[in-house]
Amino acid sequence: MGLVFRRAGVSLVCLFCWLLPAQTSLRFEFDEENTRWRLANGVIEAVFQLSPEGAFQLVEMKHLASGDAWKTGGSNALFRFRIDDKWQNAQTGFFLLSQQSQPVARGGRRQTIVLMDAARTMHLAIDIEMYTGEPVLRYGTRFLNLSGARVHVTGVDMLPWDFSGGGDSYDALRVEQWHAAGDPADFQTHISPLAPTGEPVSVDSGAHGRFCGWMALAAKSGRGLIAGWEFDGRATATASHWADQDKLALSAAISGIHHPVEPEEEFPLPKAFLGLFHGSWDEAGYVTQRFVETALAKRPEADGKRIDEFPYVSWDSWRYGQDLNEATLRRNADIASRIGVELFVVDLGWARSIGNWHADTMKFPNGLGALSDYVHSLGMKFGLHFAFAESSATAPVLRQNPDWTSSSSYGYYGAESLCLSHQPVKEWIIGETIRIIDEYNVDWILQDGENMVKECRKSTHTHHPLDSNYSNAVDGLGAVLKEVQRRRPNVLWENCENGGNLMTFQMVQNYVTSIVNDASGARGSRESVFGATFPFPARYADRYMPEEELGSYQTRSYMFGGPWIFMNRLTEMSTQAIGFAALEIARYKQMRPVFDSARIIHLLPPMPGFTDAIAAYEDKTGRGVAVVTRDGSSEGTTRIVFSALDRLTTYRVSFADDPSTLTLTGAQLMTDGLLVRLPGFQSAEIVYLDAMR
Ligand SMILES: [Zn+2]
Repeated sequence: MGLVFRRAGVSLVCLFCWLLPAQTSLRFEFDEENTRWRLANGVIEAVFQLSPEGAFQLVEMKHLASGDAWKTGGSNALFRFRIDDKWQNAQTGFFLLSQQSQPVARGGRRQTIVLMDAARTMHLAIDIEMYTGEPVLRYGTRFLNLSGARVHVTGVDMLPWDFSGGGDSYDALRVEQWHAAGDPADFQTHISPLAPTGEPVSVDSGAHGRFCGWMALAAKSGRGLIAGWEFDGRATATASHWADQDKLALSAAISGIHHPVEPEEEFPLPKAFLGLFHGSWDEAGYVTQRFVETALAKRPEADGKRIDEFPYVSWDSWRYGQDLNEATLRRNADIASRIGVELFVVDLGWARSIGNWHADTMKFPNGLGALSDYVHSLGMKFGLHFAFAESSATAPVLRQNPDWTSSSSYGYYGAESLCLSHQPVKEWIIGETIRIIDEYNVDWILQDGENMVKECRKSTHTHHPLDSNYSNAVDGLGAVLKEVQRRRPNVLWENCENGGNLMTFQMVQNYVTSIVNDASGARGSRESVFGATFPFPARYADRYMPEEELGSYQTRSYMFGGPWIFMNRLTEMSTQAIGFAALEIARYKQMRPVFDSARIIHLLPPMPGFTDAIAAYEDKTGRGVAVVTRDGSSEGTTRIVFSALDRLTTYRVSFADDPSTLTLTGAQLMTDGLLVRLPGFQSAEIVYLDAMR
């Protein structure tokens, strides 16, 4: 077990930031004589080769600004998977069938290399993508079955990497997901040294897993790797270092895959990415987050245009539990719209029962559509909670189709779980989702459930009984979201697998944000944001604020990050609290543009009895914001020392509460730091940085 993130933090800064060249075009070259490819994008360069013996691999990857080189440790193909009982990897032996490169969406370029095995039983199409200025390789392999018979993919390793250790020693950074059971698992960070004797550091990821689907490795020399895998099901990733063999190996094995592939059928292995960084863990996070925003993340768009108000200020009904009614919600909507809320969400409890997704007519005598119209008339978006993978045993859908349940049930508010990869279930769910979107004029779906990738070993379903994990992730959850979003592209989705338990790089492709704490309190909220903003952009850290008595400690504990969600009974709040909420919402709206492309600076981790701090800083505009929170510390002032600012730039420094304004250089803020006054025992301050350029 590793150390929890050290309070002192890591003082390394981004030594090479200022050396990064401006946007450089992508350059992909193929040397036919030596069957070598050199792919470059201005920040990294990667060389691949198919050897005369038929072994395909990454030979070397270079970080141009720092000069860091990552050389192959022997066998470094971009694929490692098993067909029935035989592993396919660099040793299989392939010849080149064809190769080409072409532009892909979002300004990227894809190199495709098609290989065939000597026995001519398969094509492997290896796709390698790069994006201008992003020091990351995204890769995936498509397997085409030419054997003439059905085969089964029985193993997939999404991180098939094997580098030379280069005489370095390594630390690994992992981040937990949220767990209702606690102990704690609230986005805690773990920094663990990699033993030089090969004992792995492992990451159990995916739905219902312990960790986010990401890891970072940093060498003592400053060079570092980040890796993420685009899979919602369970996987176990490892990093191991054998110093005597000069080998640094990564892997991320999908747990439980037994996927039939028919003759002439193509099976795409889940994609993953590998990136390079140099410097601190903040830099590892920044490299990941920029790539995710550029290449992967679902954009908050309507009719193809970015929604300027995103991340929203939102309100959610859960403080009323399932005891909802139209009149109460209307009264809350009135106040919400007055204080600046932009999205109004009706949580669990609106339907007749879980699985019977028609509005409860006792609670909504005029229909849920009338409430939606009212919310829209107040200028807010209308959102609805939806747990489509669950159904109460008494709901009509399960009474008529008792076999639609998955073989394991997860007890979401007493409901049974449905098997999403069973074709008729999938079709029913897609139909119901489209219907509720249209019937209730829904702009936003808060998608919830207990374990979104159910275990199902039934032989009566259309998936293979041994393929539960893969099928339910890709053919189930993934396919439902893809089809609904294709048909209703303007509806935005929020991930809430029981409060932040599906933190994967497939999730970011389907949702515009994710819950990172399920009402775990003010400090819990700051803890989750602190951890989640290593792997994920700040907009994937949304927070639910249940308190009705509001001071700066409450509001600012929930303010930093993506959508800020009020979950309090607005009708029961004092005039003073409502007034303060309106003021704080205005402050949030002022700071939120920074989150779009911010570098997150993890200044001081939240701990009881201390003061914590986190900052977002936008390189291109020189704007930054920090939230500093005194959580029972005896000190009335705290010094925060920034990293990753521009040393030569002069910043105007101002505060939300403290009326003073300072003028300081980046160098001063990064060396002496900034003294922040926090007079209250539990209080918080906002610091604004504006480059004077
Ligand atoms: Zn099933």
